[in-house]
Parts: sequence; structure tokens; C-alpha cells
Amino acid sequence: MKIKAKKSLGQNFLIDKNIIKKIVEVGNILPDSSVLEIGAGTGNLTEYILEKKPKKLFIIEKDERLVEKLKERFDKKIDIINKDVLKVSENLICSDRLIVYGNLPYNISTQILSKWITNDRQNNWYENYILMFQKEVADRILANTNSKNYGRLSILSNWKLDVKKILNINSSCFIPKPKVESTLLKFTPKKNYFKLKNSKNLETITRVFFNQRRKKIKKPLNQLFKKSNKIVEKLKLNLDLRPQNLSPETYYELAKEYESLRN
Ligand code: SAH
Repeated sequence: MKIKAKKSLGQNFLIDKNIIKKIVEVGNILPDSSVLEIGAGTGNLTEYILEKKPKKLFIIEKDERLVEKLKERFDKKIDIINKDVLKVSENLICSDRLIVYGNLPYNISTQILSKWITNDRQNNWYENYILMFQKEVADRILANTNSKNYGRLSILSNWKLDVKKILNINSSCFIPKPKVESTLLKFTPKKNYFKLKNSKNLETITRVFFNQRRKKIKKPLNQLFKKSNKIVEKLKLNLDLRPQNLSPETYYELAKEYESLRN
């Protein structure tokens, strides 16, 4: 049975074998590794992941037609969860830390990244995750302070995670061919990260600042803090700066001040 790609599920299947092999290598799968693949599609990556002989391979795939196909192709070698990844509690999948692969629709990659970062309770379920993004979004995740792409995504992603760019992938490596270029990123949890009570506060702070990214920081500061001059003094902020000039650490400090006033 030939499967027609569903546009609504962002189905762009990887067909370049060299690229697929490179992606699988990034996870360093060992015989005692447990692996999770999200959005396995017709199993192009799955096949090479299995060649590494991991202890376990779990699959999350939303499309029932593809679940059937995957069962036919790999039978008992995989453990399939036929669900929307956004609705799965990843920490319940397995007690081992998982190596996660996802060549997913771009919008889902961004949503799960944000789901995982802002999940304050489930932190230790993964060893690393290897995800495909639209190149433009990857550039925003990787951006440094003072650059044009720097913003909420860079600050949030770099809060709990070390992010590494693995490679850019040409759209001709996929079928059907997407309209944009892709970038593969690897995320590894930081041993030490700036502790906040609630990640929502960091989301709020960055939203208020970057909604007015061209304005000087005085305005968002006044909006967020009644006694903003105290905060300015404490964090030694220069009011001539704009949101893109503040380091991620400054945003974490601001989020901490913000949450300490809320309790
Ligand atoms: N990884 C495969 C398939 C890529 S296409 C390959 O590289 O060839 C993206 C896959 O993600 C499709 O199989 C699609 O059905 C699945 N998918 C899309 N949205 C999903 C979601 N919310 N949860 C789980 N799987 C999803």
C-alpha cells in the first residue's frame, strides 16, 4: 500500500540515506540505550536506529495509517504509541533516560521544545534530543545576544539546555520537498541551570520585553515592576539598552525578581 503524504501532519519524509545515517550517529546509541523516535513516518530513520541495536525503541506516531505500516515493517522490534506527541507524558514512557529523535513537522518541533522546557516537574526523562527545525527557527534558537535573531526562543532554549547545531539539510533530501531549508539541532540538559520556581515567569518576562523589541528597556521594566528603579539598581541595568542587548542571564535574574514579588 502506498501512503500519500498528509500535508496537515507536515509529512516530509527523509530519503537521503547519508543524511539519515548522520542523524542517527548524533545520538551515540549504545546497546543499553533506550530510544524514542517521534513522528516515525514510514520508518526511514527507524530502520537505521534499529541497526544500532538499542535496548528499546519507542515510537510516537499520530497517523494511524503509518502506525499500521510501521507495525508491518518492524513488528516486535518497536513499541508504538499512537498519539499526538503534544499530549504524551514523556516521563511515563520508560524509566531509563531516553535518546530522542524527531524529524517532525516544524511547528510541532517548536511546540514540543517549548513544552519540554516549560515543564517544571518532568526534567529527567531524556539524555538528549535531536530535532529538525526550519533553518530560520534554528537560527533564532542559536542566536547570541546583540544579534538580530536573538529573542525569546534563544533565551528559553538556552536556559536548561545546551544547544548544538549539527547540520543544515537541503530541502531536496525530503519527499515531498519542503519549501524551506532545515537544520538539525541537538539539545543536552545543562547540569546546572538558573533555578526558577515557575518557568511561566520567564515566558512572561521575555514576552513583555520582546513584544517591543525596538523600544528601550525602560518601558517593559515599568510595565512589569512597580518599583522598577530598585530592579534597575540591583541588576545594574543600563536604560539605554534594548531587549536584544540583555544577556540570557539578565532575563533569568529578571524572572527571579518578578516571581519573588508574586509570592
Ligand atoms: N521521521 C520520518 C517522518 C517525517 S514526517 C522521516 O524522517 O521520514 C513527520 C511525521 O510526524 C509524520 O509521520 C507525521 O504523521 C508525524 N506527526 C505529525 N504531527 C505529529 C504529532 N503531533 N505527534 C506525533 N506525530 C506527528
